[in-house]
Amino acid sequence: MEHPTALVTGATSGIGLSVARGLLEKGYFVLMTGRNEEALDQEKSRARSRGRSIETLVCDLSRQKDVETLIEVTRAAFQDKVDILVNNAGIATFASIEETTPEEFDHIISVNLRSPYLLSRAILPLMKAQKEGLIVNISSVAGIDAWSGTSLYSMTKFALRGLTGSLLAEGAPFGVKAVAICPGYVATPLVAGAPVRLEEMIQPEDILKTILYLKDLSPAAVTGDIVMKRLGGL
Ligand code: NAD
Repeated sequence: MEHPTALVTGATSGIGLSVARGLLEKGYFVLMTGRNEEALDQEKSRARSRGRSIETLVCDLSRQKDVETLIEVTRAAFQDKVDILVNNAGIATFASIEETTPEEFDHIISVNLRSPYLLSRAILPLMKAQKEGLIVNISSVAGIDAWSGTSLYSMTKFALRGLTGSLLAEGAPFGVKAVAICPGYVATPLVAGAPVRLEEMIQPEDILKTILYLKDLSPAAVTGDIVMKRLGGL
């Protein structure tokens, strides 16, 4: 491949959009996935007009068939060479345990946990074969602590850190790294209505910078999970 490659999920909004655009600017061939076809088409035109290498795929990650298609498209576009996988797509449900439903449980698990598992399961062997690669799972401070009303979200974000630990342990002998990034409030549509002003939140670009920093480390260096807090709070 002429360019390093990156697959970014949930790339039409918030953190994923910032990460995908930033990696494109750094010369990565980026496969952006999301559910919003119009937004993906716009990003494709924008990137190509700037001479960037981009592919897009509309994909609902709660559906296993869509994830399987995404894996096939990624392998074909990148010719089986994946440098960075960013499992970013996610949803949040905030309600007391009694107010949540088993259907909501299944849905949030499918998006926030099952799809990163399926994608990592497919991409890890490719990275092991090429003897390098970075898998970034976007967890949360709610994956370190749980609070009243965060049960479903916290369950998925704690578990994502568990997946990351095993990916790192199994990838390390092959030069493959895995890190969970656990931010507090990031200024994206996900936290619209939060009791914190947007300008006082972590910015999506801070997650991009963290991924670029991880990628810049020497081959033997890796961080543990990265907890990024808002100055003076979560
Ligand atoms: P966002 O709502 O702007 O972006 C979420 C993305 O996930 C969107 O592109 C959305 O389309 C995608 N997505 C949701 N359901 C999907 C599905 N079924 N199939 C495919 N894509 C789907 O929010 P964000 O803040 O950018 O969130 C990105 C990640 O960061 C999430 O995993 C979130 O849990 C995590 N996170 C966010 C914050 C925050 O404060 N914003 C803090 C910690 C962690």
